Amino acid sequence: STQIQLAARPTGWPTPDDFRTVQVTYGDLEPGQVRVANEFVSVDPYMRGRMNDVKSYVPPYALGETMTGAAVGRVVESASDEVPVGAVVTHQLGWRDVAQADAKHFQVVPEIPGAPLSLRLGILGMTGMTAYVGLTAIAGLQPGETVFVSGAAGAVGTAVGQIARLLGAGRVVGSAGSPEKVELLTSKYGYDAAFNYKDAPVRRQLHDVTPGGVDVFFDNVGGDHLEAALDRMNDGGRLALCGAISAYNATERPAGPDNLANAVTRGLTLKGFTLPGYLHHGPEFQRLMTGWFTDGKIAYDETVVDGIENAPQAFLDLMRGANIGKMVVRTAG
Ligand code: NDP
Repeated sequence: STQIQLAARPTGWPTPDDFRTVQVTYGDLEPGQVRVANEFVSVDPYMRGRMNDVKSYVPPYALGETMTGAAVGRVVESASDEVPVGAVVTHQLGWRDVAQADAKHFQVVPEIPGAPLSLRLGILGMTGMTAYVGLTAIAGLQPGETVFVSGAAGAVGTAVGQIARLLGAGRVVGSAGSPEKVELLTSKYGYDAAFNYKDAPVRRQLHDVTPGGVDVFFDNVGGDHLEAALDRMNDGGRLALCGAISAYNATERPAGPDNLANAVTRGLTLKGFTLPGYLHHGPEFQRLMTGWFTDGKIAYDETVVDGIENAPQAFLDLMRGANIGKMVVRTAG
């Protein structure tokens, strides 16, 4: 099996030299084990945090261990009754073309007609559910409200805009980092307005597209986006803090928002969250999302990189915005 390991802990922006490709030979299956041929593995921004040797909501990667993370594949050999050959499974064993482990590490998922397996890593999986939980359990979105989404053309962001619409949001606006992405937000993802945060200060651009202020801010970016949103929030507004990618590769402490006092005067709620704390919403999310998808109400984009050995480059490109929608790696197998 070809696997990718963390070879060195990056300072600032990671480079290809921080990763190593290794060959691992598995033994015969032990009782209760299964062998899975991965079809897609996920690269995600949170992995950058795990490359640092600091405590977070997931433990840091160990040097010289295969990078763990979400993957989807098919069972090719099984010594477990619960996880039979042919089943589609998701798991967290990460950047490898073949995974072999005890059956308890694998979740059998139903195949949805018309849905590529890769969507289990995106809109039908973790990133879709992050969007749903952030809008509902965290922000308490109400029909008719105005929603602002940062990082709107990424995996989570494209899901947020659509789910907000399906839940009855009034106005949905978003920001992204290229003209192509901005165009897609309004033409394909149901955004009423969108802007390129690289064109002009976010503060000014957000002001121009939210004449009625913002009720719910779904933040994937932090920094200047969070500050701009704090300026535009209506009384009683909620900010779902999902990520802060603008600072993930920073080597100095980022500046804090200069207008946090608006949270006091406007009665705002800022609530951060990570998905592992909200997995009990899984069944509700799966039921709703499967229904929306089957009814043809869900659009998606994926940026697919071929070859497990290219996972590090896919990850580096993701951090620089080369993806539209979910970035996934297709294994050669
Ligand atoms: P994306 O698909 O959104 O990919 C990352 C995107 O971030 C890039 O495409 C790039 O798009 C954008 N970006 C990079 N640097 C900057 C910057 N300095 N300013 C603004 N945008 C930037 O990844 P995901 O959808 O997987 O994740 C989005 C966010 O959600 C991340 O912050 C991630 O950590 C968080 N997350 C949180 C979870 C949770 O449980 N709380 C679960 C999953 C994700 P562009 O071209 O627009 O710059």
